[in-house]
Amino acid sequence: MVADGLLDRLTALRRGDLPTHGGRTLAYVYDSGLADADEVGRRALAMFASTNGLDPTAFPSLAAMERDLVALTRPLAGAPDSAVGTVTSGGTESILLAVQTARDARPVADPVMVVPTTAHGAFHKAAHYFGVRLVAVDVDPVTKRAVPEAMAAAMDAHAGHVVLVAVSAPSYAHGVIDPVEPIAAAAAERGLRCHVDACIGGWVLPWAEPAPPAWDFRCPGVTSLSVDLHKYAYTPKGVSLLLHRTADLRRPQFFATADWPGYTMLNATTQSTKSGGPLAAAWAVVQHIGVDGYRDLVAITLAATRRLAAGIAERDHLALAAEPDSSLLAVQTDGALDVFSLSDEMGERGWFVQPQMAFRDLPATLHLTVCAATADGVDDFLTALDESVAAAVAAGPVEVAPELRDAAAALDPATLDDAAFDGLLAIAGLAGHDGALTVPKRMAPVNALLDVAPPRLREALLIAFLDRLTR
Ligand SMILES: *Cc1c(COP(=O)(O)O)cnc(C)c1O
Repeated sequence: MVADGLLDRLTALRRGDLPTHGGRTLAYVYDSGLADADEVGRRALAMFASTNGLDPTAFPSLAAMERDLVALTRPLAGAPDSAVGTVTSGGTESILLAVQTARDARPVADPVMVVPTTAHGAFHKAAHYFGVRLVAVDVDPVTKRAVPEAMAAAMDAHAGHVVLVAVSAPSYAHGVIDPVEPIAAAAAERGLRCHVDACIGGWVLPWAEPAPPAWDFRCPGVTSLSVDLHKYAYTPKGVSLLLHRTADLRRPQFFATADWPGYTMLNATTQSTKSGGPLAAAWAVVQHIGVDGYRDLVAITLAATRRLAAGIAERDHLALAAEPDSSLLAVQTDGALDVFSLSDEMGERGWFVQPQMAFRDLPATLHLTVCAATADGVDDFLTALDESVAAAVAAGPVEVAPELRDAAAALDPATLDDAAFDGLLAIAGLAGHDGALTVPKRMAPVNALLDVAPPRLREALLIAFLDRLTR
């Protein structure tokens, strides 16, 4: 038995976290509500925790499970038999690899990727890591979907430099599916790769009714697609799939080096040593729930999403930022309240909803990831929402003091030193005593300040925050 009460201490630590189950945490976690599926996942995770995906010949079980998962996923993503896939640690790693592969497949000076503004932040991270310039094309202001003509124009404006075009199915921020077919066709006409980021939709859309327009490999120009199993496949964290239409398209993803005296390193992903646990858990959970199980979960989830959407749309002061195409909602408010206060109020009532800051012409919103386990709580959610809206309206929107706003706008994040950041963290309300950090219970004043900060400053502030959090 485990001595020293360590597990008790872990249990105590977990009490400070957001709940992972119960359907009231509407970002970060995915709850099927199926206790037996969770149990299967946990057991498989433990069984394979110490295995190492570094060398698939040493652990052939892992290669076999990876092939099985790819084979299971191919038909769901409309992929031809030629398609190949790789299990990665998550959506970000899948996207990083898609970008790196595209860049290395077409060595050009000043490589560019063309994406809608709503593309996930992981594309920006890939741009940063791999020296690819990200060209962000504005989306339709009403539908929040990418505009095919504008995407094509950006491809032409950067002709000779574009290594990748990407779209979302759906976007995280607004939950809408980009017009994959025409954008992939425009990419194909120009001989360009097109990636579909189906990280969050790839395990929902195959069972959505009515079926959405083709969003996957059924669109001939699509060359790669990412889908996270640790989202709507409800598997333990650490598993995503990156599919390529052909093995040729994937080849530059692989890395080998013989330039050192140790084993010849051979990797399909950015990680080298990696636990087989998440892969085994995904293999087990996906088959345990099965296609019929997912069909039921998706029906439950989308029905709950529609009820939430209808409830939000009919409430005073609230509106949907876009008509949802899947299981995600983005909620905006009128001037009587702000989304950050609303998020705090919902938090007090036991519901976590995720604030999203304003960007270009897109207003700040609250993000809701709806899971099967949320379905039973829709009425409770709407009750909490009514109370929260009333409280936030009574308090009025948080104001950022004009001098604070001006001071923030005047800063050049590139030239700030550590002491200046400590001052800024204090201004933002995040500094405690002696360089310690505090995370205030009510985040609205902090979020409102971050919301008006120029993006570069917002990034710098949050990096300074993380730096101190991890000292
Ligand atoms: C979650 C998500 C990602 C990133 O995935 P991680 O697993 O968090 O790394 C990328 N794109 C979309 C659309 C997502 O929802």
